[in-house]
Amino acid sequence: MKEAEAGSRADRAADHAELIRFENVTKRFGSNTVLDRLDFSVDAGKHVTLIGPSGSGKTTILRLLMTLTKPDEGTITVGGQRLFPASDKQCREVRKNIGMVFQQFNLFPNMKVLRNITEAPVTVLGLSRDEAEARARELLDMVGLADKCDSYPTQLSGGQQQRVAIARALAMRPQVLLLDEVTSALDPELVAGVLDLLRDIARTTDITMLCVTHEMNFARDISDQVLMFDSGQVIESGSPEKIFGAPEHERTREFLGAIL
Ligand code: ADP
Repeated sequence: MKEAEAGSRADRAADHAELIRFENVTKRFGSNTVLDRLDFSVDAGKHVTLIGPSGSGKTTILRLLMTLTKPDEGTITVGGQRLFPASDKQCREVRKNIGMVFQQFNLFPNMKVLRNITEAPVTVLGLSRDEAEARARELLDMVGLADKCDSYPTQLSGGQQQRVAIARALAMRPQVLLLDEVTSALDPELVAGVLDLLRDIARTTDITMLCVTHEMNFARDISDQVLMFDSGQVIESGSPEKIFGAPEHERTREFLGAIL
């Protein structure tokens, strides 16, 4: 009995283990210091929204996690493994646990929908094509596009393309899903469907989500924590109730006042 209790406590502790840590991370583009000795961490399974004015460094954080760019200083750790500084091999290993959905979908235009989703699981994870296709069909069913396997991306609406991009990211079974303003390029009538899909994913999976969005109702619904950025630093963080309901920092009040 005692062992069982201890086990369940340990399991709960593991649920809240820190998954992502930025320590003293600085990123410059020329003379522009975009992230300035940034520290923050995200626990496993949590949904964290990054808000703040344009140019405050939010996308850069996602791109660092995706290893699309490297910091100038500091350390980034995912699941206790260094992402930076680290060897290329180590980076690739850690990066397998991270998926990203971009504003502009970024599907492979020359590949049919099914192939867009199976490509990385086959080439990066080493799945057989049959396994990868079975998983891709399940995911396409989940995102409501079971009948679009043989379409090319340009034959789909923006909302459908973004659903494929979400399925493609999930096909890698990532621990972390990065969402970079994923509805900003969509026609207004297509936004709600994509956000509902993401709400479902947030509710039904244990994937850790980092989300840059201007959709504040969505942020309020899915977030465990909201980080407010300004000039490359987190100036305020807390629950959505606190940040949206009773922001402490003048810059947060100004920012939310301008967009809400
Ligand atoms: P946000 O997502 O908060 O709008 P970004 O992370 O996209 O901010 O950009 C932060 C700053 O970094 C901006 O000033 C932007 O112009 C600059 N920046 C981003 N990417 C590059 C790049 N590849 N080259 C030069 N400057 C860049």
